[in-house]
Amino acid sequence: EAALARWRTLASDPGARYDRELHIDAGAVRPSVTWGTHPGTAIALDAAVPAPRDALDQRALDYMQARAGQPLRGSKVDVVFVGSCTNGRLSDLREVAGLLRGRHIAHGVRMLVVPGSESVRRAAEAEGLDRVFTAAGAQWRLPGCSMCIAMNGDMAAPGELVVTTSNRNFEGRQGQGVRSVLASPATAAASALAGAIADPRDWLAASTEQAA
Ligand code: SF4
Repeated sequence: EAALARWRTLASDPGARYDRELHIDAGAVRPSVTWGTHPGTAIALDAAVPAPRDALDQRALDYMQARAGQPLRGSKVDVVFVGSCTNGRLSDLREVAGLLRGRHIAHGVRMLVVPGSESVRRAAEAEGLDRVFTAAGAQWRLPGCSMCIAMNGDMAAPGELVVTTSNRNFEGRQGQGVRSVLASPATAAASALAGAIADPRDWLAASTEQAA
């Protein structure tokens, strides 16, 4: 509360003018994934991968085995990684559990769920989220970097495609030759269930129908 009170003193002056203003309709933002090898290559998962603008883009396309003009939605997924220091909050884990509850991840998909801290781990286990993950076929891990940086053997095999909620998708970040696709926890969970990059809104809609 003390920090919040101080931040509120940093408001812009009344009538302040800006070089540039951006207005974003958050309701129109579609679930997004990365097609390339840095976080700036995000596109809506049902949008076409853009044509390469330069040699670096072409290298990224080649590394990711992505095709310009085709969406990533539907691409086969080998591994799904949720959590670490990024997107490993309790709210993220609840979101993932909400999608996995009563379901099982696709055959052949390996899924790791890593809480963002020890306190998150304890809180998640107190709610039974760990049991939701393991019942769905995912691994419930201790807090740590894990597959965010291919730590302690948590890595994928060359050529495998990892949908990851961590924050970097550089070449080799999750293992030599591994293709990392950054995504939200909900998109990661939906992709684990589908065995391919999937739109979480489809699975959320199915969950709502089940509940009704
Ligand atoms: S390696 Fe990944 S999980 Fe570990 S501190 Fe860096 S960004 Fe966070």
